[in-house]
Amino acid sequence: MTGYREAVVDLDAISANVAHLRALTGTAHTMAVVKANAYGHGAVPVARAALAGGADWLGVADIAEALELREAGIGAPVLAWLHDPDTDWSAAIAADVDLGLSSAVQLQQVADASATLDCTASVQIKLETGLSRNGVQESEWAPVLALAAELERSGRVRVRGIFSHLSNASPAEDTEAIARFDRGLALAAAVGLTPELTHLAASAAALRLPAARYSMVRLGISIYGLSPFDDASSADLGLVPAMTLRGRVAAVRHVPAGTGVSYDYTWRAPVDSSLALVPLGYADGVPRQASGRAQVSIGGVLHPVVGRIAMDQFVVSVGLEPVAVGDEVVLFGDPASGVPSADDWAHAAGTINYDIVTRIGRRVPRSYRAAE
Ligand SMILES: *Cc1c(COP(=O)(O)O)cnc(C)c1O
Repeated sequence: MTGYREAVVDLDAISANVAHLRALTGTAHTMAVVKANAYGHGAVPVARAALAGGADWLGVADIAEALELREAGIGAPVLAWLHDPDTDWSAAIAADVDLGLSSAVQLQQVADASATLDCTASVQIKLETGLSRNGVQESEWAPVLALAAELERSGRVRVRGIFSHLSNASPAEDTEAIARFDRGLALAAAVGLTPELTHLAASAAALRLPAARYSMVRLGISIYGLSPFDDASSADLGLVPAMTLRGRVAAVRHVPAGTGVSYDYTWRAPVDSSLALVPLGYADGVPRQASGRAQVSIGGVLHPVVGRIAMDQFVVSVGLEPVAVGDEVVLFGDPASGVPSADDWAHAAGTINYDIVTRIGRRVPRSYRAAE
């Protein structure tokens, strides 16, 4: 490795994860969710790898994220579903970005923008089915769907899809949401809408709730090779973690028993010890909450993080192992190779693997590995 901080992303793993998930879910369409810079992995390279693996849709939160994909020359269908009240819809419509809409106001604004551009905007209506976030409230389904049908007949919009999102609170609650979603789809049919896409499941339901698969699944965490479940690992699901976070030892020192380490001396060497300094900190997304709880791998040996994780660096106690300045330190990667996993860090920090990979900061250069 070259730099002393690096997130290496295995693009072949992403393609393979998508192909595996496609075979498993068997839906007509597969959306790869690449919001938030592809959960920290890099939106553009990940989008290309996911499409190579068989995804035929890309999903993002914001229009700005969708336009970033378009500017990179990615022409595949893209859906953006979270919008600023003052959104300029025209840029998205002109770039052929599908708009996930959650209200009559948004529908009308999009129809006005497409009238100005003299074109048809492709929209997907989001129904609220129990997550209490965005989506059209059930009491508004009938009027909003009727408005969508009317705007479709006038040529201002095409209702390409109807979708919702699950809470994953429990199988029973998700099953209730499925029933609610089905009522919404029936209402849409009754007003004359014929959406080509209906979708409800993210990774968790795509894997464990076949009834939620409809015509497309929206896969985020699983394409990165991470499990959405507490009770199943990546390997259990046939997935390969794509990101390896690593650095190089910046300093080594030998200290006598009793020496305090890092801010507040939350750890003192119980015996004479060798300490290695790792040049990543919470500015790089290494969670401070994992201070004194996480482990890293140096030369294939696991060592504990000791003392507080600081903004730019943390300290590892390496016992009597021969560790030298410049040695590679792996914070997390594919546990099949014996290194800690993103799940291990999530456990140490009291959070979820989504948070561990997505929070990796921009001071950490991403590099990409692929067979060709
Ligand atoms: C983030 C997101 C997803 C992907 O969720 P995962 O659990 O990462 O698969 C799917 N749909 C919507 C609406 C999302 O916001």
